[in-house]
Amino acid sequence: MFSVLLELPEFEVVNQEIFSTHYLVHVEKKMDEERCPHCGFHTRIVHDSRTRKIRDLSVLNKPLFLLVYVKRYRCQNCEEVFSSSFESVASHQRYTNRFRQFIYEQVLGTTIQDISRKYQIAYSTVERIFYSVAYEKAKDHQAVIQEIQDDQDITLSLDEIAVRKGHKYETVLYNANLGAVMGMHKNRDFDSTFKLLSLKVIHPDKVKNVVVDMWDPFHKAIRKAFPNAQIIVDKYHVVQKVTQALDQVRKKIPGLKKSRFVLLKSYENVKEKDREKLNELLETHESLAYGYFLKELFRDFYKSHDYETANQLLKEWLHLAWSSPFSSFHEVAKTIENWRIQILQYFKTPFTNGRTEGTNHKIKNIKRRAYGYRNLHRFRTRVFLECTGKTYEKWVS
Ligand SMILES: [Zn+2]
Repeated sequence: MFSVLLELPEFEVVNQEIFSTHYLVHVEKKMDEERCPHCGFHTRIVHDSRTRKIRDLSVLNKPLFLLVYVKRYRCQNCEEVFSSSFESVASHQRYTNRFRQFIYEQVLGTTIQDISRKYQIAYSTVERIFYSVAYEKAKDHQAVIQEIQDDQDITLSLDEIAVRKGHKYETVLYNANLGAVMGMHKNRDFDSTFKLLSLKVIHPDKVKNVVVDMWDPFHKAIRKAFPNAQIIVDKYHVVQKVTQALDQVRKKIPGLKKSRFVLLKSYENVKEKDREKLNELLETHESLAYGYFLKELFRDFYKSHDYETANQLLKEWLHLAWSSPFSSFHEVAKTIENWRIQILQYFKTPFTNGRTEGTNHKIKNIKRRAYGYRNLHRFRTRVFLECTGKTYEKWVS
């Protein structure tokens, strides 16, 4: 006869039934003594009993249910009546802990809808199981992140992501050492950013560096929260601004729509077969060549090996940008002058948002998978749980 190996040592299997749609395994707790949750007294006096149907992991793709025989005990000491408790099933749950864990892990990396279809469990059930496990996990993860903060200097990174079309922003705080998301907050103004920093960073004095773009409210909030930290304007954001300035120049010249990609790419990444085309373009359009030169020269600036060289190259670049006939480059030059110190700080403490940019892609994927997340709290929980970077490395190794 078919026999299921349950591997739930607290239970004794009393009976098994096989149906075309599922298995039903009757179980009973081996221990016949319970500790009273009210006073701690041990008792064996059974008051009454009932059965609970609990879903467990499937066997050979067929759902398995436990029919749990649940005794209610009467405490001899305080007279209270209480139900026996189980290691493998939490109270008021209709699923074993390992089934909940399984569903949670299945949903990570995909959608609730997928898992609902795959295992033929109601959407609302998968949703409920997923988020109840997720909130427990989030608490554990929070504890890990806080523990890590205790024993090392911290480099933070702040960035924003557009959660919805029409520019509704969420500010994301990362631990840049780990590449882990520490938390998110709605909006990207001074108040919300300061709140995010104060809530998530428990030792402000441990924060040595913060990598950030050129969004002024971020800088104000960082200076207030961590007056002694160094602020580094993220390299990639600055390069992007310069690249966009070149794109503005391109747009003013008719017929160059198809050339956008080859122009914005860094020169050494342009494929051999496209180089000829690029060179021809630059020879034909003199003003475009000037803009292109400014873009590539700016990339050389970031390759400087020391602060002094970088400082000198930036000065020269700014002079050339101002001398150019392009208003888009004048604008970038102005922005760069405003943030000169924080941009140059990169050459003293070379941190970038490189790793967090990768995480940004991941966040966007999470958003896409879940059709925009009407419930932002859930969205943040998923981001927090899926974008953990190297958080658990020291536990794993
Ligand atoms: Zn009692």
